[in-house]
Amino acid sequence: MSENKEIKAPIIIVGGGIGGASAALALSRKGIPSIVLEQSTVFRELGAGIQMPPNAFRAFERLGVVDQVLAVAAFPEALILMDAVSGEQVIKVPVGLPEFKQRFKYAYALMHRGDLLEILIDACRASPLIELRTGMRVADFEDHGDKVVAIMDNGERVEGSALIGADGLWSLTRAKIVGDGSPLTEGDIIFRAVIPFEEVPSELYQTSVVMWGGPHMDFAHYPLRRGEIYNMAAIFRVPPPEDGSTPKGTAEQLMKEFEKACPAVRALIPKLDTSRQWVLYERPAIREWFKGRVALLGDAAHAGYHYIAQGACMALEDSVVLGDVMATSATIEEGFRRYRDARYLRTARVQFTARQFGDLYHAEGINRELRKDVMGKLPPQKVFENLSWVFDGV
Ligand SMILES: Cc1cc2nc3c(=O)[nH]c(=O)nc-3n(C[C@H](O)[C@H](O)[C@H](O)COP(=O)(O)OP(=O)(O)OC[C@H]3O[C@@H](n4cnc5c(N)ncnc54)[C@H](O)[C@@H]3O)c2cc1C
Repeated sequence: MSENKEIKAPIIIVGGGIGGASAALALSRKGIPSIVLEQSTVFRELGAGIQMPPNAFRAFERLGVVDQVLAVAAFPEALILMDAVSGEQVIKVPVGLPEFKQRFKYAYALMHRGDLLEILIDACRASPLIELRTGMRVADFEDHGDKVVAIMDNGERVEGSALIGADGLWSLTRAKIVGDGSPLTEGDIIFRAVIPFEEVPSELYQTSVVMWGGPHMDFAHYPLRRGEIYNMAAIFRVPPPEDGSTPKGTAEQLMKEFEKACPAVRALIPKLDTSRQWVLYERPAIREWFKGRVALLGDAAHAGYHYIAQGACMALEDSVVLGDVMATSATIEEGFRRYRDARYLRTARVQFTARQFGDLYHAEGINRELRKDVMGKLPPQKVFENLSWVFDGV
């Protein structure tokens, strides 16, 4: 049970994505009740893949869902960086080796996002301490010092001891407590697809995570759900509109950008679903993770580029740390301060490293040659060690 005497009513969690669901679960594991308010009418995730390196499993362990994840994940043989233009391999990091699992305790996993959210939501449903509410769009909130009130867009009011904004990239909570404007984009457009593995030409099917990096573009693919389906995503850059509106790409631009790619990449590009697109955004790292009885978690606190495959892992880690500190702090503010202090530098490092990885994947000219020269000589053991700060988890 919680030692925090200020938690007299449930904690309100705005957003029922991976961050919000894992936060509710982590709090419940410490005896703290919560109410999750999700704007959508159902809990749902993108129909796309997500990489779950070993640090995610350290959090799954604490959330009590390791077995459920292991039952549906796929496990890649390696992480491979290829030159998208020449078709040459830059580096292969064999994460499927027993040595990798011995070093980090868990394997490197790949999941369907929907499977991951379903596991978290099912675990929330099984807890008597969690109330899940859908169709609840939070339009505003009030911090009264001794309680918070979330106000829905239909006027309904929900009271709690504190409020966690796990409301993602476009967080209303962040807008209110930090007010640092919209997330930033360089105009990178994403087209994705998840297809049955039978539809992948057999000579192109790989059991690894393969990232093809080229100038201002990349293409990644990997298997999901025990290898039954295949995840693909292509990224290319369009000039962001001067009026600040959302950048848009077309199927024609996609084909044109990838004309410079090698035949293996060009053969997979037509498999992408060009009826939907996403824009890549990030936010600057901040120290203002909480104000009074309101705190941020997940992308709302630290949205970054995906090039280190850690955004959702950071949300999972935020959650277990939040559960720990809220249960062992005398006041809500003390809990939020300890939570922020434990998390902001680690998540800032992930945001920073993700940007560097993006530059590396998109290298051109001499930097592209340098990438091959330096990375091509790195022994896998060295790569594991370079990433141990993140893979070892919290
Ligand atoms: C291309 C790409 C690839 C990625 N790959 C990986 C990867 O391999 N590994 C990894 O760890 N991470 C990856 N990420 C990052 C990861 O997707 C995010 O970090 C993660 O999904 C953030 O979860 P979240 O719960 O914080 O936010 P979200 O998933 O955005 O959830 C926010 C929730 O809040 C709800 N909401 C918003 N506003 C309100 C409101 N006002 N009222 C009520 N509800 C509200 C939304 O409907 C949503 O359900 C990737 C990201 C991208 C873009």
